[in-house]
Amino acid sequence: MASQEIEALSSTLARLPGLGPRSARRAVLWLVKNREQALPALLDALGAVSETLVECATCGNVDTSNPCGICADHRRDAKSLCVVEDVADVWALDRARLFSGRYHVLGGRLSALDGIGPEDLNITDLLTRVEGGEVDEVVLAMNATLEGQTTAHYIAERLEPFGLRITQLAHGLPVGGELDYLDEGTLAQALRARRPVE
Ligand SMILES: [Zn+2]
Repeated sequence: MASQEIEALSSTLARLPGLGPRSARRAVLWLVKNREQALPALLDALGAVSETLVECATCGNVDTSNPCGICADHRRDAKSLCVVEDVADVWALDRARLFSGRYHVLGGRLSALDGIGPEDLNITDLLTRVEGGEVDEVVLAMNATLEGQTTAHYIAERLEPFGLRITQLAHGLPVGGELDYLDEGTLAQALRARRPVE
């Protein structure tokens, strides 16, 4: 029977994606066994992240600086903008450097069911960025779900007056597929074969 403190650590870790109660207990046990090295390092890392995490005012990514590392990177192609639903999608696409442009995070998807309309998404900022005139291609990288596709169509309509090249990820993404769960090969293929929005 573990103490209240150890139980609390276990149940906190068990809420992390990919960990269940069993893995969380194993992680805690490992931390307890390796407490002299592992605990201070973990505390430092958590503390540093929790003090510095900030949302990028330009793209909506979450990073330890504002503008985020991607927006601040001048080697990136400012002409190309990839619109995604969530921060997780930026990370998924950027893990393997699949896309050399910049990103824009909507912060969700249109959903009549959940009462999420255009005003709940980061669309005004997207239009402002595009209005600046620097962007000439927008890649709509929504999830291959019904809501993701509805969102892509809505955004394409809003962007139409700007006369940009508007593309979306190729079909071949599994239906219902969330970008974050796709392997890099599938993502790369969907990005390479991107096509104009009809
Ligand atoms: Zn950014």
